[in-house]
Amino acid sequence: MSNSATITKIDQSLLEKLDPKGELNLASCLQCGRCSAGCTMRLEMGILPHQMNRMVLLGMEDELLSSKAIWTCASCHTCVSRCPMKVNTPALIDRLREMAKSAPTQDLEKIRTFNDEMLKSMKLFGRVYEMGMMGFYKMRTRDLFSDLAKFPTMLAKGKMKIFPPRTRARKAVSTIFDRVHRARRAK
Ligand code: SF4
Ligand code: SF4
Repeated sequence: MSNSATITKIDQSLLEKLDPKGELNLASCLQCGRCSAGCTMRLEMGILPHQMNRMVLLGMEDELLSSKAIWTCASCHTCVSRCPMKVNTPALIDRLREMAKSAPTQDLEKIRTFNDEMLKSMKLFGRVYEMGMMGFYKMRTRDLFSDLAKFPTMLAKGKMKIFPPRTRARKAVSTIFDRVHRARRAK
């Protein structure tokens, strides 16, 4: 198991910022590791879900906000479904992403841009339109040629489609995005 987390201080102020009403059940975490064992992105995260929860309780704000882990999570909710205490790690990660966006650092800018474009694509098409998303991502990062060699293979395997997806749920997905934005503004 990868573990790049180092405990340097104990401070519950981050827990207060991220979960003031205790809605995410972070303080109930047993550190049993069931979430991390089932995490679909565990090989990429660097910091595992149960470690993230503990780092929040320890106030390790800088370490979490500068981590790759918060941008690697696929929001698949496997961790919550396996958790005996119903700790809502994906919601925690969403809140960490919001915090990280307002304190940008240079080295994570590409990850944030990718995340932004992925969400925009989901809102517009009801699911990710990979070709369009990558086009905008590449323009914004001015990194036009780095993945060009993979493009024909992805096209041949059907992993990337020329035309946007036709999704029946398009309007419903867009409404969900609008509601989330309104709820955030109202806070
Ligand atoms: S499964 Fe739940 S209780 Fe167990 S470590 Fe993960 S978050 Fe904590
Ligand atoms: S929601 Fe994120 S942290 Fe939870 S299992 Fe999926 S990828 Fe892992």
